[in-house]
Amino acid sequence: MKLLQTLTQTPSVPGREDRIRKVIQDYVVEKQLFDEVSVDAMGSLIGIRRARRKPDAAASKTVRVMLAAHMDQIGFLVRHIDEHGYLRINPVGGFDARNLFARKVRVCTSSGDLPGIMNASGKPIHIASELDKKKIPEVTEFFIDLGLTAEQVRSKVLIGDMVVLDGPFEIVGDSVVSQCLDNRLGCWAQIRAIENLTSHNCDIYAVWTVQEEVGLRGAQPAAFGIEPDVAVACDTTLCCKTPGIPEEDRVSVAGDGVCLHVMDGSMISDIGLVEDFEKIARARNIKCQRAVLPRGGQDGAVIQRSRSGVRTIALACPVKYIHTVTEMSHKDDLESYHTLLSAWLETL
Ligand SMILES: [Zn+2]
Repeated sequence: MKLLQTLTQTPSVPGREDRIRKVIQDYVVEKQLFDEVSVDAMGSLIGIRRARRKPDAAASKTVRVMLAAHMDQIGFLVRHIDEHGYLRINPVGGFDARNLFARKVRVCTSSGDLPGIMNASGKPIHIASELDKKKIPEVTEFFIDLGLTAEQVRSKVLIGDMVVLDGPFEIVGDSVVSQCLDNRLGCWAQIRAIENLTSHNCDIYAVWTVQEEVGLRGAQPAAFGIEPDVAVACDTTLCCKTPGIPEEDRVSVAGDGVCLHVMDGSMISDIGLVEDFEKIARARNIKCQRAVLPRGGQDGAVIQRSRSGVRTIALACPVKYIHTVTEMSHKDDLESYHTLLSAWLETL
């Protein structure tokens, strides 16, 4: 939990993944989880762990497995500093404007992080008309107040600096709650799965990718370089068994285990891999559930279609209230996520 907490509290938006990459890199190097660790030209982190065969293992072809978890989070880049020192921002990733009112933010500059407040332009309730109250602004109509003069702001903040919503990591009942569980959960599960491993006959290329939230941009060149035989994309998915959503739109159920994403808006998982994971889950008594997400995608889509094609499955942890600062995930689903992934790797 300490590692997951650190991952969620390290800001890194698309194109600005250096901080989260350093946290992951320092951790996996210190724990000696890989034989080689490198960073590609786009900034994705790649850990290579060669097969560790049991002495009696048959010498068959070594399968090359790619794991991919995106390490960026949805956020903003500073677009403009106005004459009063208010910041205007450009989203990098899909925000719902309804979740952005009265938020604490962190503006990350080269000289340090500044706390700020985000709000939409417009009138407070006391002086708003009925029409004003009904209006939902565009994301780009929100601004950030740093509590500083325009001169002070200009001396500290540059166009292009990263901005993230600020929210704590907390245990709530049997769940964890935090900002950016999408996809620090996948980053965490990938690390934990490698830590669990004893022997495995496959070569593992674990990749923490960049720029997923703006269109799966980092996974594609990483897959091209690695040339995997098989791939697993580790991400999160909707968990909508909550009030106001019809039962058939729930996608996944909290506490029923990690999801085998049969299909989403970007790809159809290799059905043979879905069945393999299910077989292992049954044999090892690990919870998992099938899920279909009608819209939305993840890194698996571009890995699957790299070079001449790669057998790919998407694993995804159920997350309630996704793309907010109160993303919520059941502890049982976290557990099944990494145990199922390592159990599968050990069968290859
Ligand atoms: Zn994601």
